[in-house]
Amino acid sequence: MVRWAEVGDGVLVRRHDELDLSLGLVVGEHGCLVVDTGGDQTQGAEFAAAVREVTTLPWTVVVTHGHFDHAFGTAAFGDCEVWGHPGCAAELVSGGERQRAFWVEHYRAAGRDDVARRIEGTRVVAPQRLVAGEAEIDLGGRTVRLLHPGPGHTGHDLVAHVPDAGVVFAGDLVEQGAPPAFEDAFPLAWPTAVLRLMTLGAATVVPGHGDPVDVAFVAAQRAELLRVAALCRAVVAGEMTAEEAQALSPYPERFTADALGRASL
Ligand SMILES: [Zn+2]
Repeated sequence: MVRWAEVGDGVLVRRHDELDLSLGLVVGEHGCLVVDTGGDQTQGAEFAAAVREVTTLPWTVVVTHGHFDHAFGTAAFGDCEVWGHPGCAAELVSGGERQRAFWVEHYRAAGRDDVARRIEGTRVVAPQRLVAGEAEIDLGGRTVRLLHPGPGHTGHDLVAHVPDAGVVFAGDLVEQGAPPAFEDAFPLAWPTAVLRLMTLGAATVVPGHGDPVDVAFVAAQRAELLRVAALCRAVVAGEMTAEEAQALSPYPERFTADALGRASL
């Protein structure tokens, strides 16, 4: 099932049961901003059609990071500005085919040939408007601020802050309903990135997966990320074994193992 949720005046979240994915939309007076585009071109086209039911204003796209589920739907938005961190563009250019092969195989093995075929048929589009630090997008009557808060879930996460609505789209820097994912993460730096996100002062944080959350939720998740970072440091320093770190981790074994695998980054 797919549905809209409104988290602020003209600030919407498109919630998907598939991967519990959340895609965003910010509507201004002369343009709208699409935050992430979905996991394949078909899902992107469905999202684009849903956006068109909300507004006919021209769109700009921002991709929070280069993981397929956030970035592979971009081709469906056609010829438009696509904003992203340079690392996001590099990941999609050099790693897009690797991601495609991995997820096609994954969905085939899971008996989801429909999703596998959709990913196979997707044209991967990389951002061409690059922002390594901060940028502002004027939508008319409101400005959205893009910010790279430092390495975290990936090395190139961007958040989209809508100051007048008190909303920030966090990408996968914040995750609700499942533990944060560490496959491409920088576990030692991640808590600092979340702190920078918190200092934006937004009351509502929209995770890349799961329901919108408040600042208390983000603070609690940051405390867990700090514990994981401390465990990573202890293992790298030889003060603790990986097994001991696993036993103390707030997250399941697979997640902690991924974090420990990237503990020295
Ligand atoms: Zn991700």
